[in-house]
This record gives sequence, C-alpha cells and structure tokens, in this order.
Amino acid sequence: MAVQLSLGSNLGVRRGNLEAALARLGQLPETTLTRRSRVYETEPYGMTGQPGFLNMAAEIETELQPLELLDAIKTIERRLGRRHTERWGPRIIDIDIVLWDNLVLETDTLTVPHPDFRKRAFVLIPLAEIAPQAIDPITGMTVAQLAAQPDLHGRILRLESGD
Ligand code: ADP
Ligand code: MG
Repeated sequence: MAVQLSLGSNLGVRRGNLEAALARLGQLPETTLTRRSRVYETEPYGMTGQPGFLNMAAEIETELQPLELLDAIKTIERRLGRRHTERWGPRIIDIDIVLWDNLVLETDTLTVPHPDFRKRAFVLIPLAEIAPQAIDPITGMTVAQLAAQPDLHGRILRLESGD
C-alpha cells in the first residue's frame, strides 16, 4: 500500500535528522521508500519563539498494518533522540502518517487521514511534489487541490539551503 508521510525537524542538525529518518523508514520490514520531496524551511507552527522547521514529504510502499507502522515510527523518533513530546513544541524529528490509500481510521492512537493536514502548507506543499493526485478520502479532494487553497497555515519560507 502507498502511504504518504510528513517529516519535520527543528532541533539539532535538522537536515541530518530528516535523512536519518528516511534511511530508517526504508529499512523497515516489508517497506520501501518510493518517493521523497525537496526540503523546505517553514515558519515555526503552533508555538512561537521556537526554532524554524525543515519539512518534507515522503512516500513508502508497505505491507505493514497501520498500527505496526505507527509503532515503528515512534521507535524511529525515539532512536533519533526525540524526548520532548510537547504538542507543537520543538522536536528533533516528527513523522506523521498523512494518507494511507483510501483508508479512514480513527483509534485512540492513530487517525488517518491525519486530522490537521488539510490546512497546513508545510505538509501539503511538499506532498504535492510527490503525490499531487493522491485523494483525501474524507473530502474527495486531491493533494494538489488542497495545496492550492488560499488560506493555508504554517507558511513555507523557502527551499532549504543547508543547515
Ligand atoms: P504532533 O501532533 O505534533 O505530531 P506527536 O508527534 O507527539 O505530536 O504525536 C502525538 C500522537 O499523535 C502520537 O503519539 C500518535 O499516537 C498520534 N497520532 C494520531 N494520528 C497520527 C498520525 N496520522 N500520524 C502520526 N501520529 C498520529
Ligand atoms: Mg507526530
């Protein structure tokens, strides 16, 4: 199944954190990293006064079940040194599951599609590079259509140019 992910980092060697996360995602069982977007510098979101983020999108092809992938993602986040789990606060790495084919899932620990992705520039603009035709099963809109909305939050500042 093709699964679209959003990755972000605003602590440490941000570019290195993203690369390490991608490498580990590609090493998961029954999983291949199939696409990656460019890396964007984006405005700190949610909490102001924290360092800026690097954000990117990636696509994997996986036979894992959704909760298995979520567990694997949490393990990768921990291995890369993520300690702080303050909502919207600074983090070495954040990996979110954005879309999982046409799956709609709501459990205590996992909501797919990601509940907040439809208005976030820092998720949609990178994702539109690699999966513009992916469809949000809730609204029926494509990623390209969602990314073209005029009132997105979480502004993109520029393409990343080194850390
Ligand atoms: P943020 O909301 O800033 O990404 P965290 O990364 O700390 O915050 O995530 C908090 C929790 O959100 C995770 O522990 C996870 O169980 C849950 N969660 C729910 N839906 C998703 C999803 N689609 N992708 C990733 N995590 C999710
Ligand atoms: Mg997260």
